[in-house]
Amino acid sequence: MESNQITVTKPFLPPLEEFLPYLENIWTSKRLTNNGIYQQKLEEELCKYLKISYISLFTNGTLPIIVALQALEITGEVITTPYSFVATTHALWWNNIKPVFVDVEEKTGNIDPEKIEKAITNKTTAIIPVHVYGNPCNTEEIKKIANKYKLKIIYDGAHAFGVEQEGNSILTAGDITTLSFHATKTYNTAEGGALVCHDIETKQKIDRLKNFGFAGETDVIMPGINGKMDEIRAALGLLNLKHVDKTIEKRQKIAQFYRSELKDVSGITIMDEFKNVKSNYSYFPIFIKKDEYSISRDELYDKLKEKNIYGRRYFYPLISQFEPYRKLDSAKPENLPVALKMADSVICLPIYDDLGINDAERICKIIRKIVN
Ligand SMILES: *Cc1c(COP(=O)(O)O)cnc(C)c1O
Repeated sequence: MESNQITVTKPFLPPLEEFLPYLENIWTSKRLTNNGIYQQKLEEELCKYLKISYISLFTNGTLPIIVALQALEITGEVITTPYSFVATTHALWWNNIKPVFVDVEEKTGNIDPEKIEKAITNKTTAIIPVHVYGNPCNTEEIKKIANKYKLKIIYDGAHAFGVEQEGNSILTAGDITTLSFHATKTYNTAEGGALVCHDIETKQKIDRLKNFGFAGETDVIMPGINGKMDEIRAALGLLNLKHVDKTIEKRQKIAQFYRSELKDVSGITIMDEFKNVKSNYSYFPIFIKKDEYSISRDELYDKLKEKNIYGRRYFYPLISQFEPYRKLDSAKPENLPVALKMADSVICLPIYDDLGINDAERICKIIRKIVN
């Protein structure tokens, strides 16, 4: 990899010397996993930081979705969005559940509540919306529909770390919300994830499910799996949590810069900022209209690449276009026009804490020069 390559994201890492004392403690105690002290401490700290009551740490952000479906005993059909990372739908497949795709709203990229009801059948048991790019879903409308049809709601909150609406955590919506702490996310533990729930009974059930179903030393009460996070990554998580506000502030500066530099470029659409939302600036998507901008999204993507700037087309292709899912009725293009349009026009621009404003400036210059 060339050193001057700019990628869509770079993981935040704390100064190495700050990590060493944690490692020394782990080496001394020889406690590497199974609900160790750092894992307990990180759960406590995350509850405080995220303003939530219960969290269970996982080894990645996909297992908590799979385990949430098990915990809530979801079967049959589940309504979900095609405009997401493929893990959201794979979690359904791993539970033998049929995904039913519903189109999204253009202003957020999230599942369109108005289109959910007509996708419900007598086999539907739950909805899995995604707060894509950290944009809050219309949680009130989704809740109304779920209540009316007695459906569970599991939010895939992989992008929504720290996002608040009217001062409240977005992670408290629904029955369960899952998080990813993957290296590419705003807050990372290298690999890692979590499940947010709202009562102690669910927390206990989740803790057992992610530990083979053990309820005591010799007592297995359900067919669990191994989803536990280890002490080394929990320690990294504790340390990264101390730095996360600062990294979000830096991302915010980049986002503001992009917004001001690109807002008047013809053929480029930027999502509106959401009122009363505390964002985490995890992604900066722009949408290209070829007719107005002069070249297509893919041409722009390639041009940036020639200059060593690697944006990403999140989320293209749609999940519904991938081989395992494309034959489903709900995957038909005529069912998902908005999602398709977004997938065909999106590029996420580089955004991470130590991306320089001069780099962002260079990126904006290239983008503006093409249309001018
Ligand atoms: C990253 C991501 C996941 C999966 O997280 P991993 O930690 O990589 O397993 C799930 N859903 C969405 C929307 C994601 O972006």
